[in-house]
Amino acid sequence: MAFDFDLFVIGGGSGGVRAARRVGALGKKVGIAEESRYGGTCVIRGCVPKKLYVYASTFSESFEDAEGYGWSVGETSFDWPTLVANKETEITRLEGLYRKGLESNNVEVFDTRAELRGPNEVWLKNEDRIVTAERIVVAVGGTPNRHEDLEGHDLGIVSDAAFDLEKLPEKIIIAGGGYIAVEFAGIFNGLGVDTTLLYRGPEILRGFDDDVRQLLHAEYENRGIKIITDQVFAKIEKGEGDKRIAHLSGGDALEVDQVFFALGRVPLTDTLGLQYAGVKTDDQGYIEVNEYSRTNVESIWALGDVTNRVQLTPVAIHEAMCFVATEYRDDPQKPDHDLIATAVFSHPEIGTVGLTEEQAGKEYGRVEVYKAIFRPMKHTLSGRSDRMLMKLLVDAESQRVVGAH
Ligand code: FAD
Repeated sequence: MAFDFDLFVIGGGSGGVRAARRVGALGKKVGIAEESRYGGTCVIRGCVPKKLYVYASTFSESFEDAEGYGWSVGETSFDWPTLVANKETEITRLEGLYRKGLESNNVEVFDTRAELRGPNEVWLKNEDRIVTAERIVVAVGGTPNRHEDLEGHDLGIVSDAAFDLEKLPEKIIIAGGGYIAVEFAGIFNGLGVDTTLLYRGPEILRGFDDDVRQLLHAEYENRGIKIITDQVFAKIEKGEGDKRIAHLSGGDALEVDQVFFALGRVPLTDTLGLQYAGVKTDDQGYIEVNEYSRTNVESIWALGDVTNRVQLTPVAIHEAMCFVATEYRDDPQKPDHDLIATAVFSHPEIGTVGLTEEQAGKEYGRVEVYKAIFRPMKHTLSGRSDRMLMKLLVDAESQRVVGAH
């Protein structure tokens, strides 16, 4: 049977673009559809703008620290609309590079929503046309959880909107304890916003080493970020003008300018037409795949955030590269999700790889813990009381490092 395409990719983010570009470079006939902007979450509303805003937020501290080194900085001021506009210029430039990378590898680029219509059929919304492909990759990613079960949830924002707020809030409450919540708390605090972090569990950054979690918690409080744990929102109400009243489960109410939900992400699968092809999802809507990212349907693969694996850009890219090697280079490769080095762009930043102390304790008979907490040399003159933590976990028997934080 002749198909319109050797490969069709739905979703022009980190994983989808990499798969399309690499297969296009092999001389195959490849199409890709993106309903929003090429580059996807990471480039347009994730890693890239986030890091730019983290940089922006660290200047306030640098100005303060400079004095101890003999600098007089003078009066400073911050203009939020300038940051938003400059961020926009940069992500537009990157978006262009993504598109160019596709086109220069002979990938046919469609600016449209696409949905499955069968094991080899994709419907292109803009043209209301069905194209056929020998293989299909679904890489549609996810979207922030908007807490729709909460009374007044529509008065809150999610990360997509946080980058483009018309004005910088004076006071914000961010719900969540994962890396995105923690990073945004650092950003807003650094930009001078009165920031509260609300987390339903006992400690932020679940899944990270306990010492790291506790140290960051303390350092954030040192910087003036209020952290409320073991509580959730009871409801959100409109206050005076643009204000919002956040009612907490413990009974307190906070008047703020923005309520921000950073409560994880959900896969964009509910209207994707998966049922026409018979693609299976798990109970949370993630597409189920085998270790080669293949779905239960022979001709369809899924990779990146739409699968319930590790949701990071380099991981989506790695999954795409493994798909290309397996299917087009006769070199079967399973993506390896072990030992993924991870950074959190908090203040101070976190870098981590391997097991936490708790995990190491469960996995190995005896674990040696090497830990140092100290004031970085930079802060001897800056006068800042920041501390830094280094921790190594070593399997006592083999003397192998099994975790570094
Ligand atoms: P995406 O990049 O989400 O791309 C999917 C694309 O598909 C989107 O462009 C979407 O518009 C499109 N799409 C969806 N449905 C359709 C459809 N039906 N038809 C056509 N197109 C469709 N990861 C890191 O590694 N480091 C970080 O520092 C980091 N920071 C982050 C910060 C934030 C605030 C967020 C939200 C995420 C961050 N991530 C980070 C995660 C990272 O962005 C994702 O893991 C990564 O983008 C996943 O890539 P993907 O290809 O699976 O999906």
